[in-house]
Amino acid sequence: MTKIHGMVYIVVGVLLIAGVQYFTQTRSDDSLKLFSYLGGLMILVGVGKMGINALRNRSGTPKAAPRPVYSPRAAPGGRFCPQCGAVQPPHARFCSNCGAQL
Ligand SMILES: [Zn+2]
Repeated sequence: MTKIHGMVYIVVGVLLIAGVQYFTQTRSDDSLKLFSYLGGLMILVGVGKMGINALRNRSGTPKAAPRPVYSPRAAPGGRFCPQCGAVQPPHARFCSNCGAQL
């Protein structure tokens, strides 16, 4: 099932009817009335689709919970090794985990 917004159907339907109205002014052709019915049908389909979507939204898809932003640099006090990210004492010169110079 293709996901076409219901509004698209309504717009197309209105355009179809408007087009038929325009053409029937210039020339009387009964076959054009078929397109007028088609336009009405598309509007109905569009309204129906929008109604279904509104019902689906009401039942609600659970929104993803906001993930906590983890930033090691946001931690209070201490430093972090640029190589491995291990927590270091404030005045350490070398990483206690991997030995990298801080
Ligand atoms: Zn390290």
